[in-house]
This record gives sequence, C-alpha cells and structure tokens, in this order.
Amino acid sequence: SQVQINGLIEMVLKRLRPIARKRNIELIFESKRDVSADIDEVKFSLAVNNLVENAVKYNKEDGWVRVTLDADHKFFYLKVADSGIGIPAEFKERVFERFYRVDKARSRETGGTGLGLAITKSVVLMHHGAIRVDSVEGEGSTFMVRIPLIYIP
Ligand code: ATP
Ligand code: MG
Repeated sequence: SQVQINGLIEMVLKRLRPIARKRNIELIFESKRDVSADIDEVKFSLAVNNLVENAVKYNKEDGWVRVTLDADHKFFYLKVADSGIGIPAEFKERVFERFYRVDKARSRETGGTGLGLAITKSVVLMHHGAIRVDSVEGEGSTFMVRIPLIYIP
C-alpha cells in the first residue's frame, strides 16, 4: 500500500532521538518534497532505523546526522549522512555482509550483531532499489538509497 515516507522517517527519528541526545548528536531531517510510495512500512522502517542507528552509534560526541529525502519521476532517494568515524575504503563493500564489522573490539562495546546493514540491503533489494556508501575515514559516511516509485518487471 501507499506509505508516506516523510512521516515514516519522522517516526524513526523520534524513536532514536533519546539515544542521540545522550551523546549530544544532532538529528536533522530535510525533505525537498512529500513522497508516497508502495512499500512495506514495517520492513522499510527497520531499514531506515538501521541506517540512522549506525549513523548515531559510529559517530563522535557533539556530531550530527542528516537524513534527506528527495524524489523525481522515477525514484525516491534517501540519504543518511553522518559526521562519524567513517569506513576505510577497503571495507566499504563488506559492511553489507552478514556479521561483518569493521572494528571488532569497538563493536563489542557498542553492541549488536553485525546484521543491521545486511537486513537494510535485503529490504532495499526487495523493493527493487539500490544502496551504496561514500565515506572518508575519520570524517564521516553517507549511505544512499534509491527506490523506484513504479516497478515494471
Ligand atoms: P547491528 O546493526 O546488528 O546492531 P552493527 O551496527 O555492527 O550491528 P551493521 O549495521 O551491519 O552492524 O554495520 C556493520 C559494520 O559497518 C559496523 O560494525 C561498523 O563497523 C560499520 N558501519 C556501519 N555504519 C557505519 C557508519 N555510519 N559509520 C561508520 N561505520 C559504520
Ligand atoms: Mg547496525
């Protein structure tokens, strides 16, 4: 069914705000337009949650997370950018693998299983979309998701 993506994102951010506040990380949402799309609301919320949770978890004290939503005639675009620790270039593709974590020691402290991005990617693929990441080590990361508004098999 048609789901209002702006509202979905607002709800995810509302849930993560208390965690962000503990480390004084600013959560920003910018949307250029109202986007509605035929998506699985529960699964897509989980995908967005995993991206924003990572952006907070792998961030620095007093950092920021910026979520942006845009669309054209064919796709909607979701970006989650952060001011965090970044991902070394050689590991950029591997972070989408199940159980893969860049820093084993740090990951033990922050908790989790290393499944978040694998789940996010499978949800994106299920919606015939694509996901990629740009990152500069020590400066931050940007995860980009693109989902077709109309799928023609
Ligand atoms: P889980 O999501 O199951 O709680 P996790 O966060 O470790 O555990 P993923 O979300 O799949 O697992 O992420 C895999 C690894 O990719 C992380 O352990 C981390 O090393 C790296 N990573 C993910 N997102 C970011 C980010 N925004 N900035 C820096 N590193 C990241
Ligand atoms: Mg995660």
